[in-house]
Amino acid sequence: MTELFRRPPEAAPAPRRPSVGVMVGKVKVGGGAPVVVQSMTNTDTEDPISTARQIAELARAGSELVRITVNTPAAAAAVPRIAERLAMMGVEVPIVGDFHYNGHQLLEAEPACAEVLAKYRINPGNVGFGKKKDTQFAAIIEKAIRYGKPVRIGANWGSLDQSLVAALMDENAKRAEPWDAGHVAREALIRSALDSAARAETLGLPRDRIILSCKVSGVQELIAVYRDLAARCDYALHLGLTEAGMGSKGIVASTAALAVLLQEGIGDTIRISLTPEPGQSRTTEVIVAQELLQTMGLRAFTPLVTACPGCGRTTSTFFQELARTVQDHVRAKMPEWRVKYDGVENLTLAVMGCVVNGPGESRHADIGISLPGNGEAPVAPVFIDGEKAMTLRGEGIATEFVGLIDAYVARKYASRAG
Ligand code: SF4
Repeated sequence: MTELFRRPPEAAPAPRRPSVGVMVGKVKVGGGAPVVVQSMTNTDTEDPISTARQIAELARAGSELVRITVNTPAAAAAVPRIAERLAMMGVEVPIVGDFHYNGHQLLEAEPACAEVLAKYRINPGNVGFGKKKDTQFAAIIEKAIRYGKPVRIGANWGSLDQSLVAALMDENAKRAEPWDAGHVAREALIRSALDSAARAETLGLPRDRIILSCKVSGVQELIAVYRDLAARCDYALHLGLTEAGMGSKGIVASTAALAVLLQEGIGDTIRISLTPEPGQSRTTEVIVAQELLQTMGLRAFTPLVTACPGCGRTTSTFFQELARTVQDHVRAKMPEWRVKYDGVENLTLAVMGCVVNGPGESRHADIGISLPGNGEAPVAPVFIDGEKAMTLRGEGIATEFVGLIDAYVARKYASRAG
């Protein structure tokens, strides 16, 4: 009964849609693997120092794949040097090359780049135009086959294959009951990805080296497109809302779209395409992706802090500061804890603002603190494993509570330490 009281039972997440597993370096995407978090750099790939630094930052934040644009001969030439720098930094993360327009030329001119990349991303809408489209697409697939690499065929609303759109519009005009323009556009996006995948297979690329995506920037459109795409194939799917935007708008839009699809078992790897605020770290997109998966119960990455929003009972900012201190502390400690303490990512923490919900929510966590609200005695009971363990008071509450968390982690996960 005590355990039930502490942890109200969570409904299990939906089963994943069956898909063909694809190895991207050492990371498995689809085929029953946990949903993979990925991100993309925004440095100039021609600059190997800053690009390697940002890849390392993203990888250390938890990005399991990192994509870089490969847009010029100098960028392609820089890719092996980026990989060397990462190796020197002790960072092992598969690097994905993003190609548009000239991928066939770059992969031909820079074999070391073709070799070092763990996956190629190509866009069927701009891999080539007119008569050149088929030969340029085939040239990239031939490189993927030669170097044993998977390919993401990533169709995008903003760069749809116009010849395919025109053909589908003609086809639609002949229907007794023509589809609306949105339906035709969605079909074009999906057909672009599926037809390209079928062609890649015909050229000899195995099914377990193909990942698909069909990105759009509207939430309802994305849900409609991916439901349809998922029903029509068993390729592993890369999920993301393109051009999601900045700040809370980008986070909310991405989360709204991806949560619906993930809940339906759709999506094998995700990227949150956030526009960083000026001065904001690129790693925000990784943290949002992790928190999305973790709050949905699909994966666990880092202990999350349950905190109440505060209200008129908490006119001081102390409890907000403590919640921030605790979350920052566990994030900072995770690289060390992850190595030493197996399972520590499942630790649950609570920082609450007053007696109304404070003791109850703190009991639900592994370790929680209920701070005093207005008019309450200036004491903060701490609950460990559902039981009141002690009461903190005075100036050192934050430091003492953080110390209690560290001690709890060392004690609870000590037997699993390597
Ligand atoms: S726990 Fe207390 S401080 Fe926090 S929102 Fe509820 S009533 Fe307000």
